[in-house]
Amino acid sequence: MDGWTSFTMPRAYFDHNATTPPDPAVIEAVTRALGEDFGNASSVHHFGQRAKALLDQARTAVGQLIGAEPAEIVFTSGGTESDNLALRGAAEALEPTGKRHIITNGIEHEAVLNTVKALVKRGWTSTLLPVDATGIVSPAALASAMTRETAIVSVMHANNEIGTIQPIADLAAIAHEHGALVHTDAVQSVGKIPVDVRTLGVDLLTLSAHKFNGPKGAGALWIRRGTRLVSTMTGGKHERNRRGGTENVPGIAGLGVAARLAQGKLSTEAARIAALRDRLEHGILRSVTGTVVNGALTPRVPNTTNISFDGVEAESLLIALDLEGFAVSTGSACSSGTLEPSHVLRAMNLPSHRTQNSIRFSLGAGNSEAQVDALLAALPLVVGKLRTLVRR
Ligand code: PLP
Repeated sequence: MDGWTSFTMPRAYFDHNATTPPDPAVIEAVTRALGEDFGNASSVHHFGQRAKALLDQARTAVGQLIGAEPAEIVFTSGGTESDNLALRGAAEALEPTGKRHIITNGIEHEAVLNTVKALVKRGWTSTLLPVDATGIVSPAALASAMTRETAIVSVMHANNEIGTIQPIADLAAIAHEHGALVHTDAVQSVGKIPVDVRTLGVDLLTLSAHKFNGPKGAGALWIRRGTRLVSTMTGGKHERNRRGGTENVPGIAGLGVAARLAQGKLSTEAARIAALRDRLEHGILRSVTGTVVNGALTPRVPNTTNISFDGVEAESLLIALDLEGFAVSTGSACSSGTLEPSHVLRAMNLPSHRTQNSIRFSLGAGNSEAQVDALLAALPLVVGKLRTLVRR
């Protein structure tokens, strides 16, 4: 804990689903790799082999974190690239079969949604599965959407806004019965809860280092052995011909250290964070009137709660809390002066007053009970003030 406080005090950071502060051991590994192990991992000489050794260590650590063989891990620049490689790479490999239908759902991250849109532009058809009011994709809905043309099914493991965990193993079994490939974006679950690719039963899994105290710009796609994928980053023979380009050795070394640390403390840290999240959630529901939690309470990643505050505009609450020293986030995106409600909450068919006043609190390694209590002390006053302004 001590290593963390300097990053977060006196401000308290409750936005770990956006990104996390790198662990001090990660910063050390990245710095060392940047300075001392600067070789090109493809070079045969001593410098190159030192860099290659770092990649090998990271590949093993990431593989162990998700129950995969090291050779099945392809390093990328992060979650967005892994989602692109999974969907575009699988689509291109499967096009000769004539199957060109992809199924996903309305609460995916834009990295998946916009990639599916790009596939539609090149002649694919797509189905966006509905989610229920708690944000869950039902296996029955998938079963009825599957057709003989369905080549790929992509459903995220945990949602970034509400934390809800999808029944991936059940969904994957249905997709496989129909001969489709299954991808899951596990950016928000890896490092927070145990993730095992064999238990999930998927073929492709996306992860990103900066969501579990690793550096930005480093991630991986797990590709089940034997899965055909066309490289989307054409270039040299890096990553066994699956992703061209000189590897980001410092970033990948940091990813490896973050993966090892996450695995070592997964159960204890998940329990600690869940207790803090629940303290925060129960405290808000108790002390601030007109509040309701969005999304399934369970199964949910332990660090996330998304709460709507009646009669308060989310953006104003975010700014007011920031002024008090608390960093949170809204599900909404403010674009060209208009406040767009979260596409996730909209897909859950929540009424507009709930989609426009929701705040996401996402906890992580740096958070303490004292920070949660300070936030709980500030919130009723801040919300009360904003509600008075609205009523004027
Ligand atoms: N997928 C999900 C569910 C995410 O939450 C994010 C980041 O917010 C991404 C993908 C994109 O990951 P990256 O920032 O590493 O590109």
